[in-house]
Amino acid sequence: MKIATFEKKDIEKVGVFYGEKLIDIDLLSQAMSYLLDRDFPIFFDIIDLIADLENVKKLLQSGTKLFKGEFLKLFSVKNPVLAAPISRETKVICLGKNYAEHAKETGSKPPEEPIIFGKFTDCIIAHNNEIIYPSFATRIDPEVELAVVIGNQCKNVPVNAAMDHVFGYTIANDVTDRDTQSKDTSRSWPWFRSKNFDTSLPIGPWIISKDEIPDPHNLEIELSVNGKVRQKGNTKDMIFKIDYLVSFISQYLTLYPGDIILTGTIAGIAPIKRGDEIICRIESIGELHNRVI
Ligand code: MG
Repeated sequence: MKIATFEKKDIEKVGVFYGEKLIDIDLLSQAMSYLLDRDFPIFFDIIDLIADLENVKKLLQSGTKLFKGEFLKLFSVKNPVLAAPISRETKVICLGKNYAEHAKETGSKPPEEPIIFGKFTDCIIAHNNEIIYPSFATRIDPEVELAVVIGNQCKNVPVNAAMDHVFGYTIANDVTDRDTQSKDTSRSWPWFRSKNFDTSLPIGPWIISKDEIPDPHNLEIELSVNGKVRQKGNTKDMIFKIDYLVSFISQYLTLYPGDIILTGTIAGIAPIKRGDEIICRIESIGELHNRVI
């Protein structure tokens, strides 16, 4: 199932794809509540969808049965403008150097333990939003990454149960102020300001639930700039796999529905400049487009 956030009259709403069409799931729920005089769930936020996907499926089934040929006309969103499929009330945990080839190009060995750091949700922008090149930066690089979306609250999860807590996947671009990162690293300062600046985290365009991606460790992943491929790889080369990462991170922090784990970028990092068109592509998920201004 493909879920998304869209804008309607300056309000963010949530939707579910039915074939190619995006369905306003809250509108459908309200219509069903009214017509059948029964309570249906309310879906205000992407977390409401993630936490209650079974009811979303039931609602779609009953909705298509009840409204038949009128279903799409009534509930599909015309020319939807997608917002980032993320709630600001979640957190983003990122992995550093989780692909050996990428570790090598940065002059380091593959890490013995996952290197984790955070990005604020304030940094998030949606598909087709613009990356604003910061005035203070001298080099910024995009980084295509598979993003894992957590499905339910968990803490101290064993590796063999970790996938039960994964909801699905989306695409992220961990835009990095590389010169500041190098400078701060050389001073043993944390990767913080180099990873946290406005618009430094394009995510989307939607979230694909895990049932549609049986093997997240075998997806082609690439990044192109102005149509030219720069980063190209496969998620099979991740050093620490998704189940291990969920387990590892959950020892430190309780994970909640909608939290995001960025699984690290592949080799091929290089700078971008104003005017560049960035496309991050992951097999079975789609494409995330952002222009630099
Ligand atoms: Mg990264």
